[in-house]
Amino acid sequence: MATDKTAVIGFPIDHSLSPVIHNHWIKALGLNIKPYEKISVDPSTFEEQINNLKAEGYGGLNVTVPLKELAFNISDETSGVSKKLKSVNTLSLSFEKINGDNTDAVGFINSLDKKTIEKNITNKKTLVLGAGGSARSVVYALNELGGHVRLFNRTTEKAQILLDDLSLNSSPVRAEELEDYANSSSFIINTTSLGQKAGEHNNILSFENIETETFIYDLIYNPKRSSFLEQAEAKGLKIQNGLRMLIEQAACSFQIWHKIKVDVSNELMSLLESA
Ligand code: NAP
Repeated sequence: MATDKTAVIGFPIDHSLSPVIHNHWIKALGLNIKPYEKISVDPSTFEEQINNLKAEGYGGLNVTVPLKELAFNISDETSGVSKKLKSVNTLSLSFEKINGDNTDAVGFINSLDKKTIEKNITNKKTLVLGAGGSARSVVYALNELGGHVRLFNRTTEKAQILLDDLSLNSSPVRAEELEDYANSSSFIINTTSLGQKAGEHNNILSFENIETETFIYDLIYNPKRSSFLEQAEAKGLKIQNGLRMLIEQAACSFQIWHKIKVDVSNELMSLLESA
């Protein structure tokens, strides 16, 4: 049976596209449940607000920045991947207990074409830029796909912590090594927030000597073509933004709550591109 009341929580939450995605599926499937909402939840009173939402009958909550670790901490039971990432983006609330899951890593994997995985990731050198919350899921996923992951972050200590937490036997890429690593990688992904604000330029890589077969991914989906992707495209490289991942992680949450597997249609992609 489908879960009646679902929402995304975050702080802030105004710009979330999750309601557009979930409500598209709720409508398309004709589910007789409440529309998916967005709710601002202050981290300082997190547990109290979750208990209030539970009392109000919310059965499924997506969790975004900066609440994913708090969501992990209040979950009674967590999936294997949530434990590994110490982060939860999907809460299932019932009278007896709170279940926590994380669909970011599988959402990222599902966003990739099979050909890209084979050609650019498995047994290939991959480079991740950034060591924030989303980088954790991406590094975990690339490692699961058999990629040789190297990690660069402006703050090197944070990259080291991430690698240690995920038990990856690798040291962070230093600034002076970055161009060499980039030039020998088959897959490069920007997980930093640099380029998200209007007019902000991502100058982490020069793109001068990147191999022509290298696949360039940016988790940013708004703008649709970040400055990182623009630079890559100008060099004729294959590119992908974060929109598909956003939808795929939502599809996994949808399946957890409603037990229905949904497709990512072109109609939904266009709806979001114009949102
Ligand atoms: P986060 O936890 O706040 O991490 C931000 C990262 O960006 C850190 O590594 C930070 O480096 C780096 N950074 C910020 N400003 C920088 C600058 N000026 N120069 C170099 N590095 C900089 O954020 P997050 O949750 O990982 O999200 C990152 C981006 O991914 C956001 O744009 C978000 O919208 C996007 N995202 C997309 C999806 C999707 O489904 N497509 C999912 C999650 C996130 P320091 O450690 O040095 O501060």
